[in-house]
Amino acid sequence: MYWHKELETIDRLRLKDLQVERLRNIVARVHASVPFYRERLLQCSVTPESINSVEDIYRLPFTTKEDILANFPFGLLAVPREEIVRVHTSSGTTGKPKAVFFTKSDLDGSAELIARCLTMTGMGKNDVLQNMMTYGLFTGALVMHYGAEKVGILVVPAGPGNTDRQLTLMKDFGTTAIHITPSYALYIGSVLQKNNIDPRKEFSLKRAYMGAEPYSEETRKKIEEIYGIDVYNSYGLSEMNGPGVAFECEEKNGMHLWEDNFLMEIIDPNTGEPLPDGKEGELVLTSLCREGMPIIRYRTRDLTAIVPEPCACGRTHRKITRILGRTDDMFIVKGVNIFPQQIENILMGIRGVAQNYRIVLESLDQMTVEVEITGDLFDGNVTRLVKLQAEITDRLKNEILVKPKVVLHEPGVLPVSEGKSKRVIDNRTL
Ligand code: ADP
Ligand code: ZN
Repeated sequence: MYWHKELETIDRLRLKDLQVERLRNIVARVHASVPFYRERLLQCSVTPESINSVEDIYRLPFTTKEDILANFPFGLLAVPREEIVRVHTSSGTTGKPKAVFFTKSDLDGSAELIARCLTMTGMGKNDVLQNMMTYGLFTGALVMHYGAEKVGILVVPAGPGNTDRQLTLMKDFGTTAIHITPSYALYIGSVLQKNNIDPRKEFSLKRAYMGAEPYSEETRKKIEEIYGIDVYNSYGLSEMNGPGVAFECEEKNGMHLWEDNFLMEIIDPNTGEPLPDGKEGELVLTSLCREGMPIIRYRTRDLTAIVPEPCACGRTHRKITRILGRTDDMFIVKGVNIFPQQIENILMGIRGVAQNYRIVLESLDQMTVEVEITGDLFDGNVTRLVKLQAEITDRLKNEILVKPKVVLHEPGVLPVSEGKSKRVIDNRTL
């Protein structure tokens, strides 16, 4: 099902024309009204008239998270302040939050993209979406909320937390889909299992939209199995509207990035050089339609690759793979580069491992992986525990090439966060 078939299946040559036209407009607008960009464009000798092809993007300067912070709060506005009707901030996972501003048309544009995303996965007027993201400054909940209403979906604005109430709401209102972080979905999964609740019997759930933090394919499978639903990956960031930037279709193998709204590049994070489709690198995005605060060549720090093959669903917007991590998530132990995702991928594929884990960095050459395991394993049979601990240690060592210390916990011991989870605890003192 399509929300806007013509745009979603647009011929790629026409898409390119549209992108060039929009790029030129955006460059003209920031050139005229954002002193920060005017100066940067001058340094690169770029004028709006000199933008004639999509490849001209390579002549433009990058915008970094630091640039956004340095212009806090209103420095990057491309419209008079009176045109702005909403502010959101990033959740500040990696430092001070950044402010992002929306005009009325930006809000409508972000809702349109969500409408495309939800319709693409089969949602319609008969559905009930329980939105368990944090309402407030974070874009996650509100942007999804208005997009879902645009489709005509009944939205239950639950917010995160209070798991008993979430389950009651799901039952009372016949929730068919949830919007949730992977860590909270895993947590609710553990509550369901602990209380012997079979979600297939108790609820009408069919789908979950999961994003806001990186998670592995193994985690998706685990959640699909516990709840008996389809899980769709949803990617976005405040600087580019929030959710609705890239989203999985029913093929569930990569996220269509709406290329009429965002120009995407994958670059080598160290050199800034563009990489070809299929190669993994840092995602760089230019907002082509945002009015209030357009951003050019934004270094997202998210690592992914463009899927080179066309999608069977018929949409022509290229897909990106699951986010493999953030450049700033990477840590080094014994000189080896490690991403938390690699560890999660292994853990979630091991029988006996429950839903929660965390990584503690002890020193430059020592890390501990704390893992919750299923309750039935704590039955006094020590040999089984020792075996499982050895298996986890070995499998992790094979993947990350460093032998971690592995500590097993009963379920419910490790802290759970309602918003984005914090998987890595850094106790190193340098
Ligand atoms: P931040 O977390 O940087 O403070 P945001 O709240 O805007 O800012 O969150 C955006 C970030 O969340 C993205 O840049 C990305 O790192 C992460 N993210 C969002 N969706 C996903 C997803 N589906 N998979 C992995 N990471 C995601
Ligand atoms: Zn598709």
